[in-house]
Amino acid sequence: MSDAPRYIILLGAPGAGKGTQAEILREHFGLVHVSSGDLFRENRAKQTPLGKLAEKYMEKGELVPDDVTIQMVMERIARPDCVNGVVFDGFPRTEAQAQALDAAFAREGKKIGATLLVNVRDELLIQRLSARWFCPADGSVYNLLSNPPKQTGKCDKDGTALEQRNDDKPETVTRRLQVYHSQTAPLIEYYRQAGLLREADGEQNIEQVQAAIVKIVEML
Ligand code: AMP
Repeated sequence: MSDAPRYIILLGAPGAGKGTQAEILREHFGLVHVSSGDLFRENRAKQTPLGKLAEKYMEKGELVPDDVTIQMVMERIARPDCVNGVVFDGFPRTEAQAQALDAAFAREGKKIGATLLVNVRDELLIQRLSARWFCPADGSVYNLLSNPPKQTGKCDKDGTALEQRNDDKPETVTRRLQVYHSQTAPLIEYYRQAGLLREADGEQNIEQVQAAIVKIVEML
C-alpha cells in the first residue's frame, strides 16, 4: 500500500450507493469526499447564481452543462484539504468532464488511482431511489429498504422530519437513468481503456460492497 495521495472515482448510476460508499472511503482512508451533486445542492440552497442555474437542470433530471460543472469541481479540488486524496462521487459524468480531470491532473502531476464501478440493475435502482429519504438539517441519508431510520420519518441524530429529494420522485428518476446510460455509461469504457476500471457488485448489502471497495483501494 503506497503513501501517495489517493484519487478515487466512484462511477455508477444514481442510486447505486456511491454517496454511502464515498463516505466510507472518506473515513477509512482520510480522503475528502467531493460530490458534485452535493456542491450543486449547497449552491441551490444558498440561491447563488450557480445554484439557480443548476436547479433548472436538476429538477428535470438532466445534467448541468459541462463548463460550469468542471469549473465548480476544479475549484473544490484546488482547496488545500484535497492534497491528501479525494473520492469523487458523481463526477465525472461525461467524457468532456473526464478529459478535463485528466488534463488538470496531468498539469499537476497527480494520478487517478482507480475508477470503481458500482454495478446495480435498473429495476433495483428505481426501487432504491424511491425509498431514499434525507434529513434536511444534517444531510444524513436513509433508505427505507436497507437503512431505515429508527423512528419512522425522523432523523436518528436530531429528530428532524425526513424529506425526499425532488429528483428522486418517479418521473425524474426515469429520466436520470436514461441520462446515465446515454451520457455517463460510456465512461466505463473510457476508464477500462485507461486501465483504471475496477468493478464492485453494488447489489450486495452496504457492508459487503464496503468490504469489496476497501480491499480494492488498499491494494493501490
Ligand atoms: P447526484 O446527487 O449526484 O445524483 O446529482 C444530482 C443532480 O445534480 C444530477 O441529476 C445533475 O442534475 C446534477 N449533477 C451532479 N453531478 C453532475 C455532473 N458531474 N455533471 C452534470 N450534472 C451533475
